[in-house]
Amino acid sequence: MKVELHLHTNRYSTCAVDSPEDMMARLVELGYDAVFITEHDAVWSEAELDDLRSKFPSLKIFPGLEITLANAVRSVHLLILGTRDPAFLTMQRDVGSILARARRQHCLTVLAHPYRWEGGSGILAEGFYPDAIEHRTPNHTPLQSLMSKVTARQRSLRLINSGDCHSLNFPGYFWVETHQPFDSPAELRRIILEGQYENRTYEDESLTTGTGNQELGTGEKQEPVKREPGKNRNQEPGETGTGNNKKQG
Ligand SMILES: [Zn+2]
Ligand SMILES: [Zn+2]
Repeated sequence: MKVELHLHTNRYSTCAVDSPEDMMARLVELGYDAVFITEHDAVWSEAELDDLRSKFPSLKIFPGLEITLANAVRSVHLLILGTRDPAFLTMQRDVGSILARARRQHCLTVLAHPYRWEGGSGILAEGFYPDAIEHRTPNHTPLQSLMSKVTARQRSLRLINSGDCHSLNFPGYFWVETHQPFDSPAELRRIILEGQYENRTYEDESLTTGTGNQELGTGEKQEPVKREPGKNRNQEPGETGTGNNKKQG
């Protein structure tokens, strides 16, 4: 299953450009099997989700949330995958309670783009650990992706790739893939925690299919990081689920 864990639409994320319908159609076109809709500080209702699901029966559409944590230095963004619970939106100053509540709901928690800006990984230093942190994302340079990889190893956190999709041009660069079909956010969480997935990028696709990436460089405000030539594609032992198989920089 090709899975997008981080996606915004213009329904509830003011920084997102395209409609839910257009975003879902783009994912279907690119062969995605599942998506978590993670608006900024807003949750979809079940009725809204059902309406969207009825239009895209081939796509598993799950709810989620990207919550902005109040932080002394700078905002910290946390993904809560699988929830429709508006109570999270009143808890932005209490990351410990957020993580506990998410675990009770069997929702995967992911620290989004921890190295995008200073302080973005601050909750880790304070001892608050989500299940995973983002690795390759349009918001990380190769160096920042490497910093995520080092942090994940040091703190035994899962690494996940995401598209942090804000428009039709974002899907198809960074995602996760699993051979285990799932029908619920709780199953997805188990798959990630057990490492039964791989982080994938557009670089893998172009190398394996030879089709190239005709849509690179579309000039989006958050341009995906570019591939650097000569990377080592040899798999490191125990790499599955802890990062894609390329060394950075
Ligand atoms: Zn974010
Ligand atoms: Zn986001």
